[in-house]
Amino acid sequence: MKMFILGESADAESAATFDVANPATGDTVDSVPRGGREDARRAIDAAEDAFKVWSEKPSIERSRVLLKIAEHVRANVEDLARTLTQEQGKPLGESRSEVNSFANTCEYYAGLIGRERGAQTPFSTGEGFFIVTKRPLGVVGAILPWNFPVSLMGWKLGPGLAAGNTFVVKPASTTPLTDIKVANLLGKAGLPPGAVNIVTGPGGVVGEELLDNPKVAKIAFTGETATGKRIMEGSAKSIKRLTLELGGSDPMIVCDDADLELAVEGAAWGRFRNCGQSCTSVKRLFLFETIADGFVKNLVEKVKTIKVGNGLDGSTHMGPVHTNEQREKVESMVEDAEGRGAKDLVKGGRPEQKELANGNFYTPTILGDVDYEAQIAREECFGPALPIFIVKDLEEAIERANDTPYGLGSSVWTKNIERAYHAAERMQAGTTWVNSPPIARAEVPFGGFKQSGFGRELGIEGLDHYYETKSIQVLEYGKGKKWAFPIN
Ligand code: NAD
Repeated sequence: MKMFILGESADAESAATFDVANPATGDTVDSVPRGGREDARRAIDAAEDAFKVWSEKPSIERSRVLLKIAEHVRANVEDLARTLTQEQGKPLGESRSEVNSFANTCEYYAGLIGRERGAQTPFSTGEGFFIVTKRPLGVVGAILPWNFPVSLMGWKLGPGLAAGNTFVVKPASTTPLTDIKVANLLGKAGLPPGAVNIVTGPGGVVGEELLDNPKVAKIAFTGETATGKRIMEGSAKSIKRLTLELGGSDPMIVCDDADLELAVEGAAWGRFRNCGQSCTSVKRLFLFETIADGFVKNLVEKVKTIKVGNGLDGSTHMGPVHTNEQREKVESMVEDAEGRGAKDLVKGGRPEQKELANGNFYTPTILGDVDYEAQIAREECFGPALPIFIVKDLEEAIERANDTPYGLGSSVWTKNIERAYHAAERMQAGTTWVNSPPIARAEVPFGGFKQSGFGRELGIEGLDHYYETKSIQVLEYGKGKKWAFPIN
């Protein structure tokens, strides 16, 4: 496959390429150009030219194009989902849902744009009035991770295009293929050439050019907290606008009055969907001591039924870990916890089936008696291993839950509304789900507290992050002059 610049497929100027591997088999799915700084510059220039055209379009036209994009994406869901499973590893059902969520986001912002209201407000001194308007920012560099390459591209393109911005997208090096396929559908939907460009290549080269280039007005980044720090530093040179959607170590608290059947399902869904590689995966489970034994027994039974395999096989529940490096990190966190006395409630590891031998598979793991100082309790575990902690009450659970530098998602499971509000108000996280696993919705703002980032994607707030606020102050003719120079 090729990159996508100025509405056309493009090779790297150097003609270099790199392979994209299937994490379930180790086979090469396809190769893509190894873009360099010169390719990123070409794409930025294309986006800058397209901005003049796209930002001038009436909002109703931008809205129509977004609806058309959603239509084309939905019409191609099977092909896109298959490619996504091949490059990322997730089961086909999850890939379909991810591709559809890209379309949902476009539809949501197509509906929102053109329906905002501004206001004309009189000055408090009575001399005139001011108007607050919104202007698109210009060229946005969208830097994507590999865990949700398509939906997270939608979280950026949906609001960004609706507001009139243009894009250079840099997908993660291991998941560029579905994004390129989506980009190829954009022209058919009426998006002007250059409004969205995709440049494949290393983060340290293509990504760094996006940070360095003064023509890029904003970086919309999703990825690890450590990379986010570099993005923030690099963006400082030209004071770029930033949204940072970073890592998380989300707590799930199950109270003694929760619907336990529902909560067991929620824990399994929340931890093992996408092979545990969601930013808002349930990464630490806190159980009230009075319900812990029964809950663990049912969760263990449930988790033992999870079928691990190639995502293209319709019977697979959980695919491989995305890369071997990622698998080794999970393994080392599990070993660290075991070394500190953790008990294997479900012993996971590399599966023995021959047909899985070439993939990065790691079977579901549940750990009990986990030390609060273990890496899996303190850092983000991006894979299918779940540590369980027993707490005596809600206060202890909240205190433990907040004891992390992260603050992305969280959940509380209880039938008592007062308890739910109490916990939601105190959990230091951008989102608290009540009796629900972590499901993002287009209309609900999403983002982090603390080192999980800042700015919001989705919702009306997401649109705001693609605008500059502009104030127009008007002195009303004939209202008298209340200023004079020199000032006495
Ligand atoms: P990553 O930080 O390794 O990479 C993200 C992107 O940054 C990639 O495209 C990479 O090439 C690029 N990059 C790397 N170095 C760069 C540099 N110096 N300059 C510019 N770009 C550079 O993250 P990942 O491993 O792909 O994704 C997993 C992480 O993303 C996890 O921590 C997860 O929690 C987080 N995540 C957060 C959210 C959220 O909304 N908060 C959503 C999904 C994933």
